[in-house]
Amino acid sequence: MQLIQKLYMTSTISVRLSMDGAWAPAFRQRVGIRQGCSLSPALFVLVLDFALRVFTDTCSQQNIPVQWLGYADDLVLISTAEVLAQQALHQLQAACAFVGLFVNVSKTECMAVDTRSEEIPKLKAMKERVLVRWDHAEYSGWLMDWSGRFSVMDNQKLTSLDLSKFVNTLPSHLLVYDDGEFTSVLVKKSGWLMDGDGDKHRFKHLGFQEFLDDSQNKFRCPACSAVFATDRALATHTKTQWCRKLEVLSVDQARQLRRTRCANEKRIGKRRATIVPVKVVDIDGNCITPVSEFKYLGTLVSNHGGSTGEIIRRIQIAASVFTHLKAIWGSTILSVALKLRLFSAVVASVLLYNSQCWVVTANDVRLLEGFYFRCLRHLTRSTRCPVQTNPVTVDKASKIDVFRVANVLVVEAILRERRLRWLGHLLRSDLQDTAHQCLLREMGSGSPWSKIVLNDLQAVGVGSFSNAERLAANRVNWRAASLARPGLHVLRL
Ligand SMILES: [Zn+2]
Repeated sequence: MQLIQKLYMTSTISVRLSMDGAWAPAFRQRVGIRQGCSLSPALFVLVLDFALRVFTDTCSQQNIPVQWLGYADDLVLISTAEVLAQQALHQLQAACAFVGLFVNVSKTECMAVDTRSEEIPKLKAMKERVLVRWDHAEYSGWLMDWSGRFSVMDNQKLTSLDLSKFVNTLPSHLLVYDDGEFTSVLVKKSGWLMDGDGDKHRFKHLGFQEFLDDSQNKFRCPACSAVFATDRALATHTKTQWCRKLEVLSVDQARQLRRTRCANEKRIGKRRATIVPVKVVDIDGNCITPVSEFKYLGTLVSNHGGSTGEIIRRIQIAASVFTHLKAIWGSTILSVALKLRLFSAVVASVLLYNSQCWVVTANDVRLLEGFYFRCLRHLTRSTRCPVQTNPVTVDKASKIDVFRVANVLVVEAILRERRLRWLGHLLRSDLQDTAHQCLLREMGSGSPWSKIVLNDLQAVGVGSFSNAERLAANRVNWRAASLARPGLHVLRL
């Protein structure tokens, strides 16, 4: 104990002024010392571990259900309600204060996941065309925000609705079919809705969003009566082939129109992840900033559960790494093979960091593959066209050419290999391990990620998850099964 104390109390520091060894006068160091000492992490973890034990104990004594993740000083508390999150935070702050640590509120953020939408003000209530599948047939209608129901229907009709199936929550929408039938529904984000009878139906958004209160619909096309957010959007619309009456559009056309509009909105950056305004106040009365996404251990976690944000961020980081090494990629001394190995070591590893946990969509794969292709095209240029007559000429090499010359796996195959390798690690880990438990829970829940993994298992011929559990016990066999083989990846064109 004294030894450690001595180490910290009496240390001095001096700065070397020049290369020949002239030193500035030594001084007592009071700050920054903890970072440099190899004993510091151990001491810190010792103290934090104690604080977290106290925190866990008090929470269980006071019946505050909370789960937490911790990596060094990066802590995440997971609660099921706003109030509980606040209580847990207070307990954590108290436990930390006990050992002289404090929670930096300015660096703390809170995020709400999978929340029921709040009551929307009547003026903001919207409606949208939807297509609901019902006993193998599809019916179209308007899906309206529940708060705006009185503006489309009188009180008497609405009181006839049976709300007994909605436990703990109100319906989120009123669904009015085109034949005049109507029902109260609870809309799930997954593309399912539950109607007043408690039946679950699949549904699709067809677009044509507008406010229920017509005075809010400021920019309406006189020809087809579609509503737009800005006058510019309306002006652009009148020039397109999509200015057609709703009745004329087929279901597929309506769906395509919605997709086009969504893509346009995304392109101009209008559709951002929505921040749910959760209010969590710390022990001193400071409000914690609510966010829609936060970074944890170098990965962006967003409240809608997708990975697109993280993938775009990774592409940006990898692109900056790639640009920094321009001198290497342009060098004429280094061979293309060496450049490719450097690329996969330095750029691809940054690009695909933590990719085993991503929920990748087809669009995400396209983004990744586009970046990969552009990089490889740059690297393999000298092999493909040895005599560069005009370096300014745009490189128009096809994907096939580039990937053949580079002889690397396509992104999809790399992603699959990484996922399966990680799956093997998890399956071989101890059953009580948190990660193993998480994996089992995830695979049981039928989440998007578990579907991707099951798809992978099918693709490599392992089949089911139980087969994987058996096979993964043997590291060599698992490696042979999960390794990406040339026959398995198909180049998407
Ligand atoms: Zn129009």
